[in-house]
Amino acid sequence: MVQIKIAKGNNKSLYKVICLVGDMFIPKRIVFEKNSLEFEMGKNIFSKFKDNDNIEIIKLNSNKLKQHIPGNDLFAQYREGKRTLVVGTKKTLRFQSCKPSAHYQLPLISGCMGQCEYCYLNTQLGDKPFVKVYANIDDILNEAQKYINQRLPDITIFEGSATSDPIPVEPYTHSLEKSIDFFAKNPNARFRFVTKYNDIESLLNLEHNGHTEIRFSINTSFVINKYEHFTASSDKRIEAAIKVAQSSYPVGFLIAPIFIYPSWKEDYHDLLLELSSKLPNNLKYPVTFEIISHRYTTIAKNRILKVFPESELPMNDEERKFKYGQFGYGKYVYQNEIISEIKEFFTKNIEELFKNKKVKYII
Ligand code: SF4
Repeated sequence: MVQIKIAKGNNKSLYKVICLVGDMFIPKRIVFEKNSLEFEMGKNIFSKFKDNDNIEIIKLNSNKLKQHIPGNDLFAQYREGKRTLVVGTKKTLRFQSCKPSAHYQLPLISGCMGQCEYCYLNTQLGDKPFVKVYANIDDILNEAQKYINQRLPDITIFEGSATSDPIPVEPYTHSLEKSIDFFAKNPNARFRFVTKYNDIESLLNLEHNGHTEIRFSINTSFVINKYEHFTASSDKRIEAAIKVAQSSYPVGFLIAPIFIYPSWKEDYHDLLLELSSKLPNNLKYPVTFEIISHRYTTIAKNRILKVFPESELPMNDEERKFKYGQFGYGKYVYQNEIISEIKEFFTKNIEELFKNKKVKYII
């Protein structure tokens, strides 16, 4: 189904129009890095789009990728980058650690088509906001096997969404499909990823063996409509989560970031109520919850305000508490009494509304 989703831009009179099929990513340009067309994924993406007049196809002979993405400032580069798909290969096969979510990141994709104002990728990916998919998936999974072997007999957990949302490009890459299949056959490894999208149909009938946990990042409609541009609606994400649960995958919800606004308790309660009433009663695995309150660093704030000059994200330093994080830099979090209120609220409501559940953390 083709749908046109129109979202208000952050430029007074600018309205952005983006074409989505379902919530699949339709890029404006596709850049093929050197060697990427030697791989099956590269060839498939090329043949799928080569005759589409609306999409610019660029074959790179050098490493000068950025000159093909227009834009004189961060505002424009961000918007053009977000509509650019880069097909490349993962050359350094050294996996980053990914605590506390997993032991290692599984580097399938970097970047995301979404334009969430608070997104940590805004600082993480700097001036490279494009979506990059790695065509040498077999090399990546072979490398994962080496990491698994090193930790035997312990189980090794891999996170597939540390620097991306992998779902919108899955119809082109099948990277998740291959990974789910790989981990299903592996008794000593687990895979997990999180998404704000709903294009999960191709994953439903896979033999996963319960080794892949699919989490959905959800929020109240107020938060989604205000800050999460070009993502799937709350209803679509919940509908996708139900389908995944019905396919016996372990399912989790990342409710983040939690924002405090006048009707926050009512809205988050309604969200939890909707989830509890729609999730199947006979879940094979406990549904997991990860709850994260809104926080920001000064670097992130400055960058967000350049990319979204009219952002209404609550980032008034005086209203927050400054806290040094585990990585050595400080961030602005909600005041202690508000964090306590958030913890109390979610602990109580999840306890009352869900039977088979596990709250991993509320921070
Ligand atoms: Fe960032 Fe996730 Fe939004 Fe993508 S969907 S922009 S990864 S927060």
